[in-house]
Amino acid sequence: MNTTNYDIVILGGGCAGMQLMYQFIHHAQYKGESILILDPNKTYLQSKSWCFWHTNDTHPYQTIFNTTWNNLSIGFLNETLENAIHPYRYSFIKSETFFDFHFDEIKYNPSVVYSNDAVLSFEKKDNQFMIQTSQGIITTTDLYSSFWMPNEVENKTNLYLKQQFYGWEIHTDKPVFNASSATLMDFTIEQTQGVNFAYVLPYSTQHALIEITGFCSEDYSVDFFESVLKKYIESNWHCSYQIIKTEQASIPMTNFAFKRFTNEGAIAIGTAAGMVKPTTGYAFNRITRDSILLANHFFNKEIPAEFTHTRFKFYDRLLLQLLKYSPAKALHILMQLFRRVSYKHVLRFIDEDSSLFQEALLFAKLPKKDFLKQIF
Ligand SMILES: Cc1cc2nc3c(=O)[nH]c(=O)nc-3n(C[C@H](O)[C@H](O)[C@H](O)COP(=O)(O)OP(=O)(O)OC[C@H]3O[C@@H](n4cnc5c(N)ncnc54)[C@H](O)[C@@H]3O)c2cc1C
Repeated sequence: MNTTNYDIVILGGGCAGMQLMYQFIHHAQYKGESILILDPNKTYLQSKSWCFWHTNDTHPYQTIFNTTWNNLSIGFLNETLENAIHPYRYSFIKSETFFDFHFDEIKYNPSVVYSNDAVLSFEKKDNQFMIQTSQGIITTTDLYSSFWMPNEVENKTNLYLKQQFYGWEIHTDKPVFNASSATLMDFTIEQTQGVNFAYVLPYSTQHALIEITGFCSEDYSVDFFESVLKKYIESNWHCSYQIIKTEQASIPMTNFAFKRFTNEGAIAIGTAAGMVKPTTGYAFNRITRDSILLANHFFNKEIPAEFTHTRFKFYDRLLLQLLKYSPAKALHILMQLFRRVSYKHVLRFIDEDSSLFQEALLFAKLPKKDFLKQIF
């Protein structure tokens, strides 16, 4: 069997693997180090819509944003509140655009190789990783991995819920959408086992992605999602429409202690490194920040530190407990949060960029009794 060495190997060419590769090859200290991305699954063929908020400063992906909104809306039982989120903006990248962009980067960079070979095993011996693939042995000193085992995460934690969503990208027969604002959460839909809300990304007045999302332990059926979705579209826009695409997924919401390093000693990235915020399912921007950090560590020959558990883990756990054991109270708290706190402060808090003082101000506006009960 042939053995090939690369300076850097990335397992998984998804959102995290591609972003990390991009940060390596655009780093000021990059000198053409060879990079191999190994992904057996061709996940890039599964269409996704990635949204995230960011400040107006330069964003690494601003040239490929498909749409950007300056305002966000939240739907309450008796009204919808639309607000500007300055200094943030909410942007959307289609996974197709994201992967085309990165595959172009690979095409024009001879030091980067992308392969769909199956990874059979990997281990570390004397500071060198040996990766057994279906086509041979790969060696490297710097291994990054987005591989993870969903069953292991589910079985090793007592707080495990799912963010399930199902949606349609639709074209309507007449202009109906308010294209100036994305709807982050519309709580007016039917509440069943968990906390449910609708999510609307209006790309134009006649074109939108509309999703029904549930935070809950049990699996929702496609029939359930479709019936809620149909009712939601009918009651809000009274129009005929054509379904262009369906998007469906289930993202773990858990207090599982993801680690910086895998059992084999590789540096974990993406979902495998806990980059999915447990209480929101957002990961894109956290992955961007982490990729920048990891590329800096590589070029400065620093070993990234193991994660320390911050107070944000504690807040996440409290909300997960409420979502699991008292979903009606969790719904009430989420609604109070968006009613009483300005959206930009909520976004800063979710980004884990707030100070302790700012968090105290935010918590002071929420019903405290329910949180205190969870602590004890
Ligand atoms: C449909 C959907 C929509 C989302 N929308 C948003 C959003 O709007 N905003 C946001 O911030 N986040 C969003 N997320 C969450 C998050 O951004 C994504 O899950 C993101 O893709 C995570 O990046 P990743 O590289 O860890 O995983 P992936 O992009 O899934 O890539 C991981 C790759 O590694 C492979 N792999 C993993 N484990 C193994 C294994 N054991 N063996 C072999 N191969 C393996 C996978 O097949 C895949 O190719 C969304 C997630 C989904 C599923």
